[in-house]
Amino acid sequence: MHLTATPADRPVYVIGAGPGGLAAAYALRARGIRAVVLEKADRLGTSWRGHYDRLRLHTTRRLSALPGLKIPRRFGRWVSRDNVVRYLERYAEHHELEIVTGVEVFRVERAEDGDGWLLHASGGRELTGSAVVVATGYNHTPRVPDWPGLADYGGEFLHAGHYRDAEPYTGRDVLVVGAGNTGAEIAVDLVEGGAARVRLAVRTVPHLVRRSTLGWPAQYSGVLVRRLPVRLVDRLCRMQAKVAVPDLSVQGLPRPDTGLYSRVLEGAVPVQDVGLIDAVRKGKVEVVAAVESFEDGNPGKVVLADGSRIEPDAVIAATGYVRALEGLVGHLGILDDRGRPVAHGGRTSAEAPGLYFTGFTNPISGMFREMALDAGRIAKATARHLRTRQ
Ligand SMILES: Cc1cc2nc3c(=O)[nH]c(=O)nc-3n(C[C@H](O)[C@H](O)[C@H](O)COP(=O)(O)OP(=O)(O)OC[C@H]3O[C@@H](n4cnc5c(N)ncnc54)[C@H](O)[C@@H]3O)c2cc1C
Repeated sequence: MHLTATPADRPVYVIGAGPGGLAAAYALRARGIRAVVLEKADRLGTSWRGHYDRLRLHTTRRLSALPGLKIPRRFGRWVSRDNVVRYLERYAEHHELEIVTGVEVFRVERAEDGDGWLLHASGGRELTGSAVVVATGYNHTPRVPDWPGLADYGGEFLHAGHYRDAEPYTGRDVLVVGAGNTGAEIAVDLVEGGAARVRLAVRTVPHLVRRSTLGWPAQYSGVLVRRLPVRLVDRLCRMQAKVAVPDLSVQGLPRPDTGLYSRVLEGAVPVQDVGLIDAVRKGKVEVVAAVESFEDGNPGKVVLADGSRIEPDAVIAATGYVRALEGLVGHLGILDDRGRPVAHGGRTSAEAPGLYFTGFTNPISGMFREMALDAGRIAKATARHLRTRQ
């Protein structure tokens, strides 16, 4: 393919070789724009390589494909972690994407000549691009709440990002903290993997949804209702939950009092059931109050919001991630108070023309799908941006 020379022959740099960055690089290439992906790890798809063993996409194969290449049918409807990685590798190969691994970008600033962006990267590199796509991931850095006493806690403590499988926990008493998709799935994995006792500490009761009902995936509903009024969607979801999800109030998981879609807009996606409902109903996962603090000792105690003190053998904090964009672009004044870019996809901030972000929203319709759509929007906007500079 003939690639158009960008102003001063500067490529577009895409930071991060996860699904978001790869999709954006492909979409740029498809418009004849040279895109170079910079990846800090030694291989692409690092986030997916690091996820726990039993993970499968909870979005369907068809609605998770990136532009220009279907996910093979033989990977099944719910694609396994290893097959996601295989797909990403094949995606880069198929589209002949230009990826440079082992290069971490630390800071992005305006090029001195005002034409494009200067990237400060590892090894003292200074790279100038005509435009930049930041695709460093929504789940960039594990977040552990600032719990009092944690520093002196003598027990085993792990962030869920480092959890691989249940094997180290066989026969042990484990507390999982946080009832998002990851915490819910790890709790079930521990039960199935033979942990002696599994407790799940819950601060905000999650919305639980079946991954599919009568063969209809929850994600399809997510796509369909996206543009409907929030209150209407909340009401529809409440009605659907009453039919599909049993009342688990006695077990400590009452139905949430705020609507499902309202919560999504605040950044909390519903929990897709991969066995939690059953495990809670059967008492195999015990729901306990939120963690308040830790007490030292050997192994030490965990203090819960209802005042109880428990002594699990291990604590797994499924407490999410932060974007960690401050060092990279914080000085440009384009992040909101939660550290997310104010403009996203094909849009850019007035202060930062030609600086795009993908993968920093968490829509009800699925992130892979959103990143696939954003890739096209970014490529279109970049082409327009580069034309105005020629
Ligand atoms: C457990 C889990 C399950 C998920 N399941 C689904 C699902 O079923 N369906 C769905 O649609 N979404 C899912 N998501 C959400 C989302 O789709 C994935 O997190 C996806 O990997 C995000 O892609 P990304 O390219 O934005 O980020 P990542 O995949 O995290 O890729 C970012 C890349 O950037 C690199 N990088 C970071 N900083 C720098 C830097 N400064 N310089 C150079 N390189 C850098 C990283 O090494 C990494 O390779 C899930 C997320 C998690 C955590």
